[in-house]
Amino acid sequence: MRSTGLHHVTAIAGPARRNLDFYTRILGLRLVKKTVNFDDPGTYHFYFGDAAGSPGSILTFFPWEHAAEGRAGVGETQETAFRIPEASIGFWSGRLVALGLSPDLPEKRFGATVLVFKDPDGMRLALVGVPGIEAEPAWGGGEVPQEHAIRGMHSVTLLLKEAGPTAAILTDVFGFEETGREGTRIRYAARGTAVGGIVDIREAGGFLPGRQGRGSVHHIAFRAADDAAQAQMAERLTTQHGLGVTGQRDRNYFRSVYFREPGGVLFEIATDAPGFAVDEAPESLGEALKLPAQYEAHRSEIEAVLPAVA
Ligand code: ZN
Repeated sequence: MRSTGLHHVTAIAGPARRNLDFYTRILGLRLVKKTVNFDDPGTYHFYFGDAAGSPGSILTFFPWEHAAEGRAGVGETQETAFRIPEASIGFWSGRLVALGLSPDLPEKRFGATVLVFKDPDGMRLALVGVPGIEAEPAWGGGEVPQEHAIRGMHSVTLLLKEAGPTAAILTDVFGFEETGREGTRIRYAARGTAVGGIVDIREAGGFLPGRQGRGSVHHIAFRAADDAAQAQMAERLTTQHGLGVTGQRDRNYFRSVYFREPGGVLFEIATDAPGFAVDEAPESLGEALKLPAQYEAHRSEIEAVLPAVA
């Protein structure tokens, strides 16, 4: 099976305006799409990413003004990490402290320096210093100078009761391979995938299960090059691993299937195409509220219930 990597991570947030402000102004990501939750059109769906909204750079949120706080625990995504240039650790460390975000003391993981902190909803984030990525394209909007900008997703960390059954899916269906162990952390990497190419699993037996809420990751999505590759993966999940997979859903910017992996985390397989420029010019991504065709007739009612964010 060809290796893929992460396509996006989707999480639950509290107030929309605060979420938007944090990810664009504080972290310097680009808002690449402002739309609604296709299953709950009275709620925003924000997509943040790099300049083009490339697969592997995307973090998305369902912001609910009054969402209850989630509880961290087993069977969920514990941390979402982004890549920054190795030389930018000092800039980010200083910035997070100055903004009162109280990052943990920098730690080393597999030789890289990692800054761990939380967003305003308590979602656990990390910035990983990666050597040799200074020249990669970067979005320079907002307060973060282009040289220090986030260069896409680094990894997610899953906190699971046991690694084995989930690792089998990562390696057999998504083409990841185990590349190292450190403490309770087992690293799986998609060879040849620089952005979003790592999934870490931490085994934590006696912990309580997590409870989804504000600050929790809702699901993580893996890339499929096209519909055929996605169908192959779904077939493999069903026939080789006995897992139930949903039918394909059209998410306008990609096409998705979903399944619950054996460790309890909701996984998605999302196609690379068509991408975020399908309904907006690349230079104006994220500026207008975009609705899927089925909701366009209800635009004025939808706009009336969405919270003001500007
Ligand atoms: Zn998704």
